[in-house]
Amino acid sequence: MIRTPMTEPPSQLNLRAFLTLAAGPGRLVDVREAHEWSAGTLDGAQNYPLSTLSSRASELTGWGTLLVFCESGNRAQSAAESLLRAGAEDVHVLASPLAEARRAGLLRRPGGDPALLGPEEAHRYARHLRLPEVGAKGQRRLLDAKVLVLGAGGLGSPVALYLAAAGVGTLGIVDDDEVDLSNLQRQILHSSESEGQKKTFSAKARITALNPGVHVIPFCERFDARSAERILDTETWDVYVDGLDNFATRYLLNEASVRRNVPMVHASLDRFEGRLITFARDEGAPCYRCLYPSPPPPALAPNCAEAGVLGALPGILGSAQALETLKLLLDIGEPLRGRMAVFDGLHFEWSIFRFSKRANCESCSFPALPKD
Ligand SMILES: [Zn+2]
Repeated sequence: MIRTPMTEPPSQLNLRAFLTLAAGPGRLVDVREAHEWSAGTLDGAQNYPLSTLSSRASELTGWGTLLVFCESGNRAQSAAESLLRAGAEDVHVLASPLAEARRAGLLRRPGGDPALLGPEEAHRYARHLRLPEVGAKGQRRLLDAKVLVLGAGGLGSPVALYLAAAGVGTLGIVDDDEVDLSNLQRQILHSSESEGQKKTFSAKARITALNPGVHVIPFCERFDARSAERILDTETWDVYVDGLDNFATRYLLNEASVRRNVPMVHASLDRFEGRLITFARDEGAPCYRCLYPSPPPPALAPNCAEAGVLGALPGILGSAQALETLKLLLDIGEPLRGRMAVFDGLHFEWSIFRFSKRANCESCSFPALPKD
């Protein structure tokens, strides 16, 4: 085997020096096997077992300062040498036995503080815990989050399933409809057995089967001027997800989003095309009415039942809505704010259009207008 010469050997640190670097720019890498890691590791450590490191080293080389540890220091030394050969530049090894950290009470179940996540939660959301941008704190945020999904149809189906799978703790589902055989071509929350059932109950059963830890609040009613305030007041919702199929209710939701300062993730579908916008309620951010000051005539805005929609298209837009919602809840990345993503499914093209707040927008230029 040809070895590339190493620039610097990995430095050997005692526990104190190792943890000091970890508190700064260093990223902790636990190279023990997964079962050792899950029994307890240093706070914030990512698990890259030595046995799999050769195929995954490239994931780590861009991380900057790497702090590698194992039980005795031997595996960490081998791992550090592999990382340096793979191109990592600043690698340090914990030279003292991990038992010292264990005695000092510094090892915790991965996912961090048991006060944040129980063992089953740490297992279920293990792929989230591997992402430093989520981790135990982020997962706790998701578990504590409350999202209102308006519509349990084509868009609401993937939205609700992915939010439930990701561990969003409370999901409100608003829909007054019953499952019809013609829905099942795209509405994957429901099944042939649930034909004729209220969609909210069918949705609750499916979500609970996927993740029993999610609290589902069904609102088996139309979202309209009479019901809106009561539904919105039921919980302190963190995000509204718009899977509605008509303009009147969408404007109603937009008003609520502006007035209550709750972000809204919008999507709509038309035959082979989908549109997605995130209305994060920041200072100066445009609202839905800034983009569409008035609803189009009904003849120009047919719903799915009238115009048709290709199956799988709602899955793409609804999954994107779920992704935007998770980003908002975790406060990571850049939401699709002031931008509209238009997806042309026939030619597989995403186009992004920018738009701004309208100075005289009826909905957002005069906040907190009293409602009549
Ligand atoms: Zn506006």
